[in-house]
Amino acid sequence: MKGIIFDIKHYAIHDGPGIRQTIFMKGCPLGCWWCHNPESRSKEIISYTKEEKIDGQIVEKEETVGCQYTTDELMKIIEKDTVFFEESGGGVTFSGGEPLLQFDFLLEMLKTCKKRDINTCVDTTGFTDPEKLKAIAPYTDLFLFDLKHMDDKEHIEYTGVSNRKILDNLKMLDEMGKQVQIRYPLIPGMNDDESNLLRMLGFLNRLKHKYPVSILPYHKIGSHKYKRFGLEYKMNGTKEPDKEHVETIKKMFENAGFEVTVGG
Ligand code: SF4
Repeated sequence: MKGIIFDIKHYAIHDGPGIRQTIFMKGCPLGCWWCHNPESRSKEIISYTKEEKIDGQIVEKEETVGCQYTTDELMKIIEKDTVFFEESGGGVTFSGGEPLLQFDFLLEMLKTCKKRDINTCVDTTGFTDPEKLKAIAPYTDLFLFDLKHMDDKEHIEYTGVSNRKILDNLKMLDEMGKQVQIRYPLIPGMNDDESNLLRMLGFLNRLKHKYPVSILPYHKIGSHKYKRFGLEYKMNGTKEPDKEHVETIKKMFENAGFEVTVGG
């Protein structure tokens, strides 16, 4: 079995507990306006022409995004970092894109990691078939679960998909008693208004378990990639949130009893 991976990050410290290796799997069913990995969206391996300045001359170079790995090949890379996992309580995180788009490969990788006693996290949009989430749940130690907008119309506007399945899937994981960390991308002018935040707090408070929340402030890193992949960057004019604004929102979550971190 083979999977398509577009990046592997060693020694990651924001993608779950301890020191981790984060595997970025290709393909995403969403199209968030603020996405800083637009190269992740297509499920396929893609090539593009990159312009580079060398000795004052513009030179065109062909580059490829995505590489196929078998389960064995990827496990060999993961296992090179096991000493760091053991020392720090870390492990491997499958991210994307949306890792569940490559369900068979993901399931196989998770099962293999668990057989070798490696801690596993899955960073998911939640926009997936609930049966697939159920199937990977026994082999996933922690879900990093994105919550982008509570209003369905706005969710569709900014991401291209409805939030209904996402919210239902989060409720399902909650019912199952799985470990979850909520990831909230703070996007100024889109999902940081009081009304959305209060709805989010209300929804999270109605779950059976109280999950830690990670606030991910919007940043422009990756905006330059859009042109390269023939995509429109719709965030021109949106500023990165200042520290004060992030702190105000952090306080809102904390006052509602949530453990909050910023960044990731
Ligand atoms: S879910 Fe993540 S990877 Fe997919 S489009 Fe949105 S920001 Fe990008």
